Amino acid sequence: MKIDTDRDFGTRECPACATEVPANNNRCPICGYEFPNPTPMQRGVRLWGALLMLVILLALMFSAMVR
Ligand SMILES: [Zn+2]
Repeated sequence: MKIDTDRDFGTRECPACATEVPANNNRCPICGYEFPNPTPMQRGVRLWGALLMLVILLALMFSAMVR
């Protein structure tokens, strides 16, 4: 079974050396250029982290209110 990662994530062109880099790879494997924008997947992880922080904060506020 062949897993086509290009189909799932797409590619973007490296501005430094014009190589097609998989979108899930934040660094160009050819020249080492680092893409400034996070991939949608990483943005999702960050969103979940922020949501978790909010839930913990609300739980702390609620426990302080009950006491
Ligand atoms: Zn490159």
